Amino acid sequence: MSNLLSSYPAFHRHSIDQAQDFWKNEASRIDWHRPFDQVVDESRLPFVKWFVGGQTNLCYNAVDRHLKDRAHQDALIYISTETNQNHTYSYTELHREVNRCAAVFQQLGVVKGDRILIYMPMVPQAVFAMLACVRLGAIHSVVFGGFAAQSLATRIDDAKPKLIFTADAGLRAGKAILYKGLVDEAIRLANFPPEKVILLDRGIDPHLSWVKGRDLNYETLRENNLDAEIPVQWLESSDPSYILYTSGTTGKPKGVQRDTGGYAVALAASMEYIYCAKPGQTMFTTSDIGWVVGHSYIVYGPLIHGMSTILYEGLPIRPDPGIWWKIVEQYKVSVMFSSPTAIRVLKRQEAHYLHSSDVSSLQGLYLAGEPLDEPTARWISEALKVPVYDHYWQTETGWAILSNVPGVETSPLKWGSPGFAAYGFNVKLLDELTGAEVGAHQKGVVTLLPPLPPGCLTTVWGQDQRFIDTYFTSFKHTQVYTTFDWAIRDEQGYYFILGRSDDVINVAGHRLGTREIEEAVSSHDQVAEVAVVGVSHEIKGQVPLAFVVVKDASVLQDSLRRQGLYKEVLEAVNKSLGPVGRPEQIHFVSMLPKTRSGKILRRSIKALAQGEDPGDLTTLEDMLAIEEIRRAVTKP
Ligand code: AMP
Repeated sequence: MSNLLSSYPAFHRHSIDQAQDFWKNEASRIDWHRPFDQVVDESRLPFVKWFVGGQTNLCYNAVDRHLKDRAHQDALIYISTETNQNHTYSYTELHREVNRCAAVFQQLGVVKGDRILIYMPMVPQAVFAMLACVRLGAIHSVVFGGFAAQSLATRIDDAKPKLIFTADAGLRAGKAILYKGLVDEAIRLANFPPEKVILLDRGIDPHLSWVKGRDLNYETLRENNLDAEIPVQWLESSDPSYILYTSGTTGKPKGVQRDTGGYAVALAASMEYIYCAKPGQTMFTTSDIGWVVGHSYIVYGPLIHGMSTILYEGLPIRPDPGIWWKIVEQYKVSVMFSSPTAIRVLKRQEAHYLHSSDVSSLQGLYLAGEPLDEPTARWISEALKVPVYDHYWQTETGWAILSNVPGVETSPLKWGSPGFAAYGFNVKLLDELTGAEVGAHQKGVVTLLPPLPPGCLTTVWGQDQRFIDTYFTSFKHTQVYTTFDWAIRDEQGYYFILGRSDDVINVAGHRLGTREIEEAVSSHDQVAEVAVVGVSHEIKGQVPLAFVVVKDASVLQDSLRRQGLYKEVLEAVNKSLGPVGRPEQIHFVSMLPKTRSGKILRRSIKALAQGEDPGDLTTLEDMLAIEEIRRAVTKP
């Protein structure tokens, strides 16, 4: 590719200074039905359109175009250590299944622009459904299975899907999670329920119930469409491909909206420049399809690049902690993508699990989603004897903002740093108050100068103003995208992420707004007030702690009633948000520390919970509240 300049700094500069030239070259990595006539339209910043006038399709690029050269190559490798089932789909078979699924959707009246909500465990049908949606120009919204009925209902009401595609159940460590029951409950709670529910009956739930006239059996519908061939719907490059909800500081999640052409080009380029992957190789991304990493690097990225991709249903330590390395050996995995939390879990296991498999096929391990601590990074680098790349990104960007870019130039890795600005990203570290750029080793907020490169969110679903207000109004004098992360940068341009500047916490690589958890806790009618903070945790990076003021304090006098209430509050969170948001601990207190203007001092609560100094307390209304928090967190 002509973009390959010899040194990375020059390559990065070119991607910013001659962005049009740069991305025009990259666009040739994918197939276009109609060529674009303008690389980028930035006339309505911060809204950007990439590859204007071009028409393409994500499914065509991920599946159809490989039929010529890769018809019999493995495309999707499904491995379940929960059901002990493995199934490999070649590109031809994947194409067939996607067509069948698209036919089912089409028969049910799905047309371009309709939304389909996918609430599925890690099964191949979830991938078929995603690809079938984009084949038809329908917009998928995949919701992570760990979210409960209320969270699902919020997402239903925002996306207003025509259909929900779900399964009877998922499995986690052999325990069934009954998806269908959660969907029924969510539909009951929702104001805009879908017309139909398509149900994949895996045979896990023996008491599966069907709602007559609404619920349809996927297997039957599929059987009726075995020979279906559904033409690809050619889409404008800027047409939406999917919505993916993510948490922020408000209780209401935002629907990150992704385009079609820009996303395909961004992922295709990243496969070579960041992941050094070659078509025909195998990629193993251990995330869930409900998260952005799953969208970009289980499904679209590797398939667009003509790779074989592994879809793994199970835990990293079952049937034993060597399972991932056995998979690497058996499928000759070249590129692996995981999370620091998963590696910390494996680090606690005996070393022989790692050493009993031949992992020599591996070229690199990529980690993202949360800070990677040095001991974990060192341990896994030494054990695997391949480069371990930390890289930093967000649901919003769809691919890495900060990374090492070994496909362009081999640069040293620095412990604790996710690397430097990825090509296409004009990263600036700004002083929070003045908005001025800070110098080396000075703390600032990570921001991106528009236009955001291809692949990034184009807006918040249905809420253009919220897109601007949330991401582009942090600084008075400049319209820049803020990541809400603090960082410092060294003289060589390596960044070190210091944590979030807002009330968002990161639990095992998953972003959760403390407000969301607080709302879930408050759904228990005994809860008068609550503050949730994220505190450091050895394995998960961070975990939520809840400080709760109850309406009737006499309940707390009786230890049985107190325990009962504790369990009920946890159950309330399970019911409304799901296990992802479950507080590690609940502390009952008689009041929360607040400023005189009524703002809860979360920073001080968090500091105390981590055994640190609570900081400036001059605005505090009642010192006793802080003392109570201190006692609560130091109690054995
Ligand atoms: P999500 O959108 O859920 O992937 O969460 C994105 C957030 O996770 C970022 O804003 C960071 O706070 C954090 N994050 C992601 N990758 C890294 C990383 N490599 N190092 C430190 N923090 C990270």
